[in-house]
Amino acid sequence: MTDFDRILHYFPNLNELQKERFQALPALYAEWNEKINVISRKDIDNIYERHILHSLALARVFKPIKGAQILDLGTGGGFPGIPLAILYPDVKFLMVDGTGKKIRVVNAIIEALELNNAEARQVRAEELKNRKFDFVVTRAVASLEKLAFWTQRLYKRDQKHAVPNGLFALKGGNLREEIKALGKGNYTEVYPISDFFKEEFFAEKSVVYLQA
Ligand code: SAH
Repeated sequence: MTDFDRILHYFPNLNELQKERFQALPALYAEWNEKINVISRKDIDNIYERHILHSLALARVFKPIKGAQILDLGTGGGFPGIPLAILYPDVKFLMVDGTGKKIRVVNAIIEALELNNAEARQVRAEELKNRKFDFVVTRAVASLEKLAFWTQRLYKRDQKHAVPNGLFALKGGNLREEIKALGKGNYTEVYPISDFFKEEFFAEKSVVYLQA
């Protein structure tokens, strides 16, 4: 299987535009990474597995409806936001990062792909104003406790999905302590990614849902 076939194996119903966009990502990131380092060199060779498929693990856990608004908090070079925006063209994505140069790369990728359901802005999560979301997604940014604190005022009141609005975080390793630190009164659920994807890379990884 080529690396792209791995994506098709798990997402066999992609249309031509989605395939084209996913297939454009490795070269786009290779080009931009030369100018601004957003992905480690080791990972760029494994971009389909370590970045794209990993981001798409979120799609195994929840399905946003048309018109849903999703924030990618601490998107870095655009993960998980860019792969999700390709998969869900009817959903609006705002990708934020505190670091301007990373947002430059994300904007370049958005432009190259003509991803008109996605927008990237340099802003820290704590400083986001006048925007509310159905869901927040994030990978490798902060502890659940911090994420909970930053995001609590960012959710819409109206609920349009089968799951209540909240956070979906891609996490690795042992989560017990992190979840315990959240304290009582927080509803969480842990989904091991190895339940959906068989690659060794996902062995210790999960999606954590934290209800708003
Ligand atoms: N999510 C990406 C990047 C992870 S690195 C990926 O998984 O590849 C963590 C990123 O979070 C960094 O780019 C950092 O600038 C950003 N970040 C950390 N705290 C933040 C905050 N409070 N608001 C916005 N961005 C933040």
